[in-house]
Amino acid sequence: MALIIRSSAIHAAGCYSTTAVRKGTRVAEYTGPRLSKEEADSSNEESPITYLFGLGYGTVVIDGHCTAMFINHSCDPNCETEEIRGRVWIRAIRKIEPGDEITYDYCLYDGGDDEAVCNCGAKKCRGTMYSPEEIRRRKAAAKKAEKKKPAKRRTRTSTVPIPRKPQVAEEEDAA
Ligand SMILES: [Zn+2]
Repeated sequence: MALIIRSSAIHAAGCYSTTAVRKGTRVAEYTGPRLSKEEADSSNEESPITYLFGLGYGTVVIDGHCTAMFINHSCDPNCETEEIRGRVWIRAIRKIEPGDEITYDYCLYDGGDDEAVCNCGAKKCRGTMYSPEEIRRRKAAAKKAEKKKPAKRRTRTSTVPIPRKPQVAEEEDAA
């Protein structure tokens, strides 16, 4: 099995398999320096793109430095992530044909103001790369914010390349 990086319709660069991959196969490992959530937040303060993968409950983060960091999100992916004893594997959940783009569901959380819009093109696309739980949490938080304005820090623990936007003061939303 060989993976290549080339431009993708989903987002910038993507990761493709040059060979057929059987369901259940480990396609790649998500590797990179391990940081505490606090370290990850401060070390990525300046970079426009982050490739962070939150482990377990998000207290430890892998700062992606590997082929797997180029794998794009899809709401209808052909792979999933598997965390085994602190290591993260990308595993095929269905057969992958030669030339197919490798994808998994990022299930983002903790994305601050970013909307993390999804362009995966799947029929059942959620429209965002956030996890269904996070979508509910953000909706609830937005409702709350109309009454009370919590001082929310922008933190990210995900593999998604999130374009960094300048932090804006929370505005009263009339909606
Ligand atoms: Zn999608």
